Amino acid sequence: MKEIFRVAIYLRLSIEDKDKLNRTDDSESIKNQRHMLMEVVNSNTSYNLIGEYCDEDLSGAGTFRPEFERLIKDCENGKIDIVLCKSQSRFSRDMEIVERYINNKFKEWNVRFISLSDNADTENPGNKKSRQINGLVNEWYLEDVSNNIRSAFNSKMKQGEFISPFAPFGYLVDSSDNNKLVIDEVACLVVKDIFNLYLRGYGYSAIAKCLNDKNIPSPSLHKYRQGIKLNIVSNKAREEIKWNSNAIKTILKNEVYLGKLVQGKRTTISYKNHKIINKDKCLWISYPNTHEAIIDEDTFNKVQLEMKNRTKPRGNSTVHLFSGKVFCLECEHYLRKKNSSKHQYLVCSNNIICSNKSSIRYDKLESIVLIYINKLLDKFYDDVLLKENVNKKYKEIYKEKLISLESELVNINKKIDESEKYLKNLYEDKVNGVVSLEMFNSLVSNYEDNKARHSKQLDAVNKKISIYKENIKNFDEEIISKYKKLGNLNRVIVNEFIDKIYVGEIRDNIRNIKIKWNF
Ligand SMILES: [Zn+2]
Repeated sequence: MKEIFRVAIYLRLSIEDKDKLNRTDDSESIKNQRHMLMEVVNSNTSYNLIGEYCDEDLSGAGTFRPEFERLIKDCENGKIDIVLCKSQSRFSRDMEIVERYINNKFKEWNVRFISLSDNADTENPGNKKSRQINGLVNEWYLEDVSNNIRSAFNSKMKQGEFISPFAPFGYLVDSSDNNKLVIDEVACLVVKDIFNLYLRGYGYSAIAKCLNDKNIPSPSLHKYRQGIKLNIVSNKAREEIKWNSNAIKTILKNEVYLGKLVQGKRTTISYKNHKIINKDKCLWISYPNTHEAIIDEDTFNKVQLEMKNRTKPRGNSTVHLFSGKVFCLECEHYLRKKNSSKHQYLVCSNNIICSNKSSIRYDKLESIVLIYINKLLDKFYDDVLLKENVNKKYKEIYKEKLISLESELVNINKKIDESEKYLKNLYEDKVNGVVSLEMFNSLVSNYEDNKARHSKQLDAVNKKISIYKENIKNFDEEIISKYKKLGNLNRVIVNEFIDKIYVGEIRDNIRNIKIKWNF
């Protein structure tokens, strides 16, 4: 009786093959590998195909290959007599794996390994050396390819070309040049909001919560809705991905929003070990002005400084008004926040050693700082300059409205003139007997109606004009008083004006407080 062998074919398409593949050379394609192997299976009557194992798009370096794992398990469980591959390198380019399975385990499990293009066959004992040499060559090849890809990527990065397949949130990959970024009109507004909220004192998680409350899709959901598919999670799971503090932090730190490409921040350890490691900042590849900026440099730098200064806000709470800015005048340690049931306090974080023992009430410090800032405004605010700015910014709007009202006025007056002329003609026509008395009376009453309507319109427009003129006059005073004296503080104002606040100890009932201004 003829022996029948249970044959498994193993196919693999790897990332490095994909780069090589083009219309004229598809020798490594899955279709081609399958065709070649099935020819052998079909022409050998003692071969019985029991399964096809196919890994696509994965590296041959022995990392996660689900079908490969299944093949090995089936070999171990005695389901397979022969493993058939196009070449040994399809099975694995890793010497260790070749050695472990083809030269050892397969023998133990009674599995024969045959590869076609490099004539490896475990049934043939003289073949072992050639298998090992093949394995070695394959391993060198992989290292070589890996280095080539790395250096190609590096040179692209150095030329300021965007190499990732996915644009950072806020941008899209240009459809006509996939090494360029263009603004994503929708997402870029969210990026701007994130930077603004942060400067207004919101912490990472408070911003995330704010965006989630407004139902703004997270970066990965946004990508998905644009039709960009990531193979990481199921669609249902993706719908549930929300904004989190990490996503916010990543966006706030990303220099891409300055119009700058910074790439090569991470790398894999080697072609064998795909664990991702962060590269030292000095090794990053940075290229300016590669695309349109979303955030101006001033705002970006303020945010980076804030990030350094801020103490960690807990949970959803926003950062406190003076966070990271208050220091001890005596020992220069920062002042720690301390809460009682009634009030919040600040106290020198070094107060076991420091002479500055007593705490200061937060709201008191706030009103003191407000007085300082208002004094500063008093000293520096120039009414003339402010008026100029107000004129530029706000009066334009009123002026435009005035101009259109005045032209309306001209139109109404023109109509009044026309109907006066008409009335004069009507009298002449009546005197000359052209119109009958009946006709004349009805036309005159028509005229009276029009006249009344016109004068009403005239009144309305004149009223509007005087209101606007009054507004412009009052506007100056209003705006100036608004900017001349601040009613309360917020994080933006504090950041704008204050570098550091130094709180000293109490001597003779007086506490010394010094402010280091930002100018
Ligand atoms: Zn101190």
